[in-house]
Amino acid sequence: MATVDHRLPGAPDRTDLRTFDRAGLHAWLAEQLGVDEGLSLRVFKHLWQDGRDDPHSFLRVRRDVREHLARVAGASRLQAETVLDSADGTRKFLWRLHDGHAIESVLIPDEDRLTLCMSTQVGCAMGCTFCLTGDLGLIRHLTAAEIALQPMQVQATLPPGTRITNLVLMGMGEPLHNLENLVPALSVCLDDHALNFSHRRITVSTVGLVPKMAELAAALPVNLAVSLNSTTEEQRRQVMPITRRHSMAELLDACRAFPLPSGKRITFEYVMFRGFNDSLDDAARLLQLLRGIPSKVNLIPYNENPDRPLLQRPTDAEVKAFQHVLVSQGMSTSIRTTRGIDISAACGQLGKARQQLALAR
Ligand code: SAH
Ligand code: SF4
Repeated sequence: MATVDHRLPGAPDRTDLRTFDRAGLHAWLAEQLGVDEGLSLRVFKHLWQDGRDDPHSFLRVRRDVREHLARVAGASRLQAETVLDSADGTRKFLWRLHDGHAIESVLIPDEDRLTLCMSTQVGCAMGCTFCLTGDLGLIRHLTAAEIALQPMQVQATLPPGTRITNLVLMGMGEPLHNLENLVPALSVCLDDHALNFSHRRITVSTVGLVPKMAELAAALPVNLAVSLNSTTEEQRRQVMPITRRHSMAELLDACRAFPLPSGKRITFEYVMFRGFNDSLDDAARLLQLLRGIPSKVNLIPYNENPDRPLLQRPTDAEVKAFQHVLVSQGMSTSIRTTRGIDISAACGQLGKARQQLALAR
């Protein structure tokens, strides 16, 4: 599991001020310098609302504090290496990290929403057979700063009056495998003195790391999405190796026990593979499995990858027929439209650009 990483990129003996949430920053500043909460709040707002990186530029902060911070700390930023625009309006940001690794964030405009899909790890350890990020293996966890800087820096590129409305933790990586750094990052996203997103508009998607689900719920009031992708244990084991550690039954029990605020539901993501999990029997079994869980289902037609010839995308008619079974039994269901396929920004394609870039070098 991850440990909290407070090191400043490129200067590991110094502390990255953007790796703390508000309470964490105050605790650290109080211990280092004995400052009061008012002063640490000013520093926190400089970091997240004013985008100030250099402690010397902090206003209404005592000089001895500024000088100490400049010596022992700093504030990191991501470096945007490429920004790619899709014909459908989706925009992909490829960030180069200080150690040469790359991560991606994808901005998806949709009617009245502007959603940012964020990464939480370089690569991913979970090895789902259909996902290109999984092919990379886990290279490393992102720091809290590297997670929370994605919305801050993408927002800064947008014209005045345009705001990111929703955050989804569905990019590269398994968010709950990096819970230690995810929690302070999301706390910054939620904080009205920082990025100020509503908890109703942040969704964490997980492969089903069962013990971490309750920990997430205890730490933060965000929405949960679970990548189910199957209707039998055997099916799920074939495409999602995590099922060997936590069975689907155990996962669904954890969903049943998940402390949902009233009116909230768990989203079940269901990637559809032709002839594998897209039969009408699967649809009926899915309804059965989700009985008793306040749920909605998000059907995701599989985005094909040339090196997975055995996995195929169902036709639109097949997806609709599956959806019809769910809807006819009152299940709230949506179909995720494929976005950004031309810039390798669609679900399961992140990491591809990285491989392409590496090949081009
Ligand atoms: N690790 C987390 C979040 C990132 S993956 C998780 O697995 O939930 C985000 C979503 O993309 C998951 O629901 C996953 O099942 C889906 N996905 C992965 N590869 C895909 C592909 N090739 N086509 C369609 N969806 C895919
Ligand atoms: Fe990791 Fe999610 Fe991809 Fe599975 S689908 S390999 S958990 S990023």
